Amino acid sequence: LFSTEMAHTCAFRRYVHDGRLRVSNMFQPMATRQSNVAGKGKELTCKSQRLMLQTGLIRQAHPGAYHLMGPALRAVEKLVRLVDQEMAAIGGQKVEMPTLTPGELWKATDRWDTMGTELFKLQDRHKADYCLGPTHEEAVTEIVAAQSNLSYKQLPIKLYQITRKFRDERRPRFGLLRGREFLMKDLYTFDTSEETARETYEGVSQAYSRVFNRLGLNYVRVEADPGDIGGSLSHEYHLPAEVGEDQLLVCSQCSFGANKEAIAENQTSCPSCSSPLTVTQGIEVGHTFYLGTKYSSVFNAAFLNNKGQPQLCEMGCYGLGMTRILAAAVEVLSLADQIRWPEVIAPYHVYIIPPKKGSKEEAASQLAEDLYDIIPQQLPHLRGEVLLDDRSHMTIGKRLKDANVLGYPYVVVVGKQALEADQKFEVIHQTEEQTQTHHVSREELLH
Ligand code: ATP
Ligand code: MG
Ligand code: MG
Ligand code: MG
Repeated sequence: LFSTEMAHTCAFRRYVHDGRLRVSNMFQPMATRQSNVAGKGKELTCKSQRLMLQTGLIRQAHPGAYHLMGPALRAVEKLVRLVDQEMAAIGGQKVEMPTLTPGELWKATDRWDTMGTELFKLQDRHKADYCLGPTHEEAVTEIVAAQSNLSYKQLPIKLYQITRKFRDERRPRFGLLRGREFLMKDLYTFDTSEETARETYEGVSQAYSRVFNRLGLNYVRVEADPGDIGGSLSHEYHLPAEVGEDQLLVCSQCSFGANKEAIAENQTSCPSCSSPLTVTQGIEVGHTFYLGTKYSSVFNAAFLNNKGQPQLCEMGCYGLGMTRILAAAVEVLSLADQIRWPEVIAPYHVYIIPPKKGSKEEAASQLAEDLYDIIPQQLPHLRGEVLLDDRSHMTIGKRLKDANVLGYPYVVVVGKQALEADQKFEVIHQTEEQTQTHHVSREELLH
């Protein structure tokens, strides 16, 4: 059954076209004039926003909301898979909670009022209050609270989702960096004791480090303002960047760092080693929070301990701004006018440029198409990752320029060297640090 189903989908693909990803077929409206780029309204712009608009990766729908075009969505989906893997590695279970959340949940914790105008509130036809979820502590705690016979043996519980969140930000800006609608990974954990909750916290912190390391991003983990829960634990993950809206104080000698909000006004040296602190701007890409019983006490989310007595769950909540991470990565890795991606989430990995029609090397066109087919056969991890820039009315140089701007990690030029006796292809490896060009044989390329 499985293989028949596969055969059907493959046949369907062949029916539509030959299955090759051709640049000429892609809907990715590149802006041609600077004036197209800023988008409607009076949003401030930054490098990642400008580049993503220029290359047609995103389009503004209205202030703080963007359409994601195909390649941008591919990058987001890759990031989702990467985060799913790291959540699975710590025992996270993926769920999905409705975006529309009942006002009564928020009134129970008082956040209906304390979150103020950032909540997108609405009413249904019966005049019942709702809001579009900006985060889901209330909803998830209620799920666990409804489980009346929860045993200590079933804990810890780690539930997460990757869904759109809504916040009526006072100043939506910088494209995907601060939207009013954005994609967030939010994990909620339920433990039997403060001690195990802290172990869980440590485990999630390590998972977050792995996420940023796999993305090849240089991040800073800082102490964050734990808000109104005394003695609790909270850290933020930031990518240092000028457009970052948070000020971080980082120790020049040890690993201490803190968000300026989390540290006393007159604290001028490192609390752990007394060395000077330096100030940097950061983009907050993740946040971990030990919550204690703040929410479990409101909804009575309890488990039966080993004496059969009900006891409140010790909770934690952990956010990753998915669309913000994407834009922040583009912000910190890109050159002024060329996108650079974390290699693992680049929308495509290989970009093949065949010769120009009517040129001396036109005979090499077939070699380019062959290469397109053979790369995923020889290197299965590249299946679906190879693009063919078939706009062969354009010179190689013009298409190469586009390839540089789009920043996909490997660009393969099939030019006149491909027709010479020792048949060489030009491979350009584009990373944030450098652009390396190699002239390689077909065997070397497929190695
Ligand atoms: P900020 O301080 O930037 O407003 P926050 O502290 O309000 O963020 P959290 O409530 O901690 O955000 O949400 C978890 C994560 O969601 C953040 O670390 C961030 O990566 C992401 N995030 C928050 N607000 C936005 C937004 N408006 N647009 C995109 N991502 C966001
Ligand atoms: Mg905020
Ligand atoms: Mg913040
Ligand atoms: Mg935060």
